[in-house]
Amino acid sequence: MERICGWIIRKKLVGRVAIIEISGDRYTKPYVLVFKKDRNPEEYELIQGLSIGTALCFEGEKAREQKSRRGIEYVADKVEVYAEPLKPLPVDTSGKVPALLDTRIRYRYILLRNPLEKAILKIRAGILEAAREYLRKNGFLEIHTPKIVAAGAEGGATLFQLQYFEHRAYLSQSPQLYKQMLIASIPRVYEITPYFRAEKFNTIRHLNESWGIDVEQAFVKSEEDVMNTLEELVAYIINYVRTNYEEELELLNVELKPVHTPFKRIKFAEAIEMLETEGMKVSSTEDVTDAAEKKLGEIMAEKGYDLYFITKFPWSSTGFYYMREEDGIYTRKFDLDYKGLEIASGGQREHRYYKLVEAIREKGLDPRDFEFYLEAFKYGIPPHGGFGLGLERLMMKILNLSNIREAIVFVRDRTRLVP
Ligand code: ATP
Ligand code: MG
Repeated sequence: MERICGWIIRKKLVGRVAIIEISGDRYTKPYVLVFKKDRNPEEYELIQGLSIGTALCFEGEKAREQKSRRGIEYVADKVEVYAEPLKPLPVDTSGKVPALLDTRIRYRYILLRNPLEKAILKIRAGILEAAREYLRKNGFLEIHTPKIVAAGAEGGATLFQLQYFEHRAYLSQSPQLYKQMLIASIPRVYEITPYFRAEKFNTIRHLNESWGIDVEQAFVKSEEDVMNTLEELVAYIINYVRTNYEEELELLNVELKPVHTPFKRIKFAEAIEMLETEGMKVSSTEDVTDAAEKKLGEIMAEKGYDLYFITKFPWSSTGFYYMREEDGIYTRKFDLDYKGLEIASGGQREHRYYKLVEAIREKGLDPRDFEFYLEAFKYGIPPHGGFGLGLERLMMKILNLSNIREAIVFVRDRTRLVP
């Protein structure tokens, strides 16, 4: 006998039989319990009076014969009721009546009783499980860096300001500066962290609070070493989800193909050429636009590539911390795109103190604001590089989610500060 707890998500009374479905902890699919009036009159009476949403526990064991396709059948008795809803639930947790995204976001904390919503959350946890496993096996140490910071790494436009006693401070846009500083002592680090960005517009691929898997590694020969780490990590994650979350993928109707490395690489300049050949107007000095990113996804899909790197971004489009090539025009920055969406950015960094100060000035920033960071470059920082991989962006493409808001339980966007 096991003791199993959860919530009623569906109830059916047919003749002298009561069938309930319980969303519990072990499985993504519900437990299906059948109570016959003749066999368990007491439980039958009790169940009959309970409403959808009731929290209860029961003792039972897995039925020898499994007839239900909706869940796992259990033979149960000893039902204990722990909480009944005060009013009918505002959403259908059985999954029969689909809710609009806005309603889903508002009530996701109860909608997670629905196997489909729960499957998304479980796969999110699975991706992090896989990432930690891969990185630990490869010698990366998990770190934490401050989320209240004095300077941003990705430019002023998307910084959230806050008052820190008598100082102005910001919410961290990325752990960029701090993970680089740690390279002074630890050759391989990673952090799983929130990013806070004041993106002013509502898009289907931006959140104001999102999560990233951030990696930095030292003693690299070029950005190619960093791209190797990223492609192996992403392949590991996708293949891990494929083999460990079969039930969830099936529920979500996702057919995930196995992923092989190496991923295709194309230079930024080549990508621009390909887009121009297709008749697109694109800038050769700025970051690719959403439309261009999508179009490139279509071109690459036709060639059979879902995952591909865009390498050698022009200096005019990047942050100050990327290493410039000798020509001064291009850098060792790359993006990783997945079916027409940027899921990661990374590259080799500038580790030479004087070049770094110059780069900060050239980007119109004040080296004095970055003194704490620059100081670290005086004590023997080796060539290094890393990347930031967006968790929700990766989930969007693995699970074919049409909006990034489906990938996170509590959404922070232009209009949402609660729940
Ligand atoms: P984009 O150009 O698509 O706005 P970005 O280049 O500004 O993204 P990076 O600074 O490169 O973003 O951050 C690293 C990764 O973190 C991105 O590739 C993306 O996967 C994720 N990311 C960044 N900002 C957001 C955001 N506002 N919402 C969701 N994910 C984000
Ligand atoms: Mg980027």
